Amino acid sequence: MSKLHLFFLPFMAHGHMIPMLDMAKLFTSRGVKTTMISTLAFSDPIKKAQESGIDIGLIIITLPNQESGLPEYIQRLDQVTTVDFVRKFVKAISLLQEPVERLIKQHSPDCLVSDTFFPWTTDSAAKFGIPRLVFHGTGYLARCASEQMRLHKPFKNVSSDSETFTLPCLPHQLKFTRTQISPFDLRRRSEGEFAELIFRSREADRRSYGVVVNSFYELESGYADHYKNFLGIKAWNIGPFLLCKDGDKEKGRRGRESAIDEHECLAWLDSKKPYSVVYACFGSMASCTQVQLHEIALGLESSGQDFIWVVRDIDIDDFFMPNGFEERMRSSEKGLIIRGWAPQMLILDHPSIGAFVTHCGWNSILEGVCAGVPMVTWPMFAEQFFNEKLVTEVLRVGVSVGNKRWRTVAIEGVGREAVSEAVRRVMAAPEMRDRAMCYREMARKAVDEGGSSYNDLSALIQELSTLSIGSSYCE
Ligand code: UDP
Repeated sequence: MSKLHLFFLPFMAHGHMIPMLDMAKLFTSRGVKTTMISTLAFSDPIKKAQESGIDIGLIIITLPNQESGLPEYIQRLDQVTTVDFVRKFVKAISLLQEPVERLIKQHSPDCLVSDTFFPWTTDSAAKFGIPRLVFHGTGYLARCASEQMRLHKPFKNVSSDSETFTLPCLPHQLKFTRTQISPFDLRRRSEGEFAELIFRSREADRRSYGVVVNSFYELESGYADHYKNFLGIKAWNIGPFLLCKDGDKEKGRRGRESAIDEHECLAWLDSKKPYSVVYACFGSMASCTQVQLHEIALGLESSGQDFIWVVRDIDIDDFFMPNGFEERMRSSEKGLIIRGWAPQMLILDHPSIGAFVTHCGWNSILEGVCAGVPMVTWPMFAEQFFNEKLVTEVLRVGVSVGNKRWRTVAIEGVGREAVSEAVRRVMAAPEMRDRAMCYREMARKAVDEGGSSYNDLSALIQELSTLSIGSSYCE
């Protein structure tokens, strides 16, 4: 019998691509044939995985920039900075349908694991008689919260943006303000191409075979049950993907080349006491105003803790640094500033890290959980306000910085006092670290042989194998 063969189609953003590659590695480690269908901009990490001996296939497809009118240099979502580019990027994504279908025809995979942002893959998979598994890149709580938000629209029952409302039907009483909710959840079909893409994705997801979730049962059991049993969605929790055995071979080098020499970074961390360093990083997409960056700098400094602060390349501008800030940090060795891409996993796993100031991107949350590090939560956009609730109220391994505004760009509004106060509270809470360490252990157990994620993956592979034997291609 030939090996089960899965196609993986990742979206062009680091927060989607990194876990999808980890997921492919996970399937590979269980004897499944895997092929990543990727654009050139994201092919390097896949090639690195291949070079380190991981048996993953790679097929490079071209983002049709010319046909969609998108400038050649735009290859990733974080480079899409204007409304016009959004329109063209969305067009470019839709134009990938034909080349991807050609590849399915040519290679006859048994299943297509697709990012949610390629809604047309539901039809493509159906055309070739194979199942489409959706990958959202988020956890169960966020999926459930988003579904309940759309079903019940509890934000309609409040009279102002600052009044809180509770999301109904969920295992915990999660409260939000209107300003924390994504415009895609607030309106049925908001204007703009990206909103339209999200709407189509939701519709296509409902017609998919099932959902693969980068989470583990013990982390959000109530929400895993709610998603599967109450909302009736077929799903497998098979994460955290990043703990797949082969992932260790490239620890640190996830997504891009680091902007700092990793030995230098580790040497700096080695010189610090256990649990004494704060790591602040806001992912691959978030972009803050100069005022906000200024406040972060002063907040970290006044917390009195040693810190590593990652400033995105797009935000780099020497003028935002408070007077003499960098010199002070360098000479006192209090702060290390990384301009550009940081080796996040390498840093989080270091014993000197005591807290993680995070924008609550799901990958960052899982990386914090797997490293056993308590968090200062600063959600900004996407489903991050939901993820914050998991960290602060369900798992109780973090303290909120108090942001109330959902924003994708020009993020600001959190003062230095809020930053330093939240950092101090997390650093002074050993019980939070103990709990974080417990979840770290649970994550490892979940992916080990016999663990919840291991077993769910076995069940999924078994189901896909059975489907593959039973099906024949229809053209
Ligand atoms: N990341 C990294 N170095 C950086 C910034 C981000 O390695 O300097 C990685 C991070 O470890 C995570 C991913 O990029 O795996 C970001 O995903 P997440 O879901 O946290 O946030 P997003 O970038 O999608 O907002």
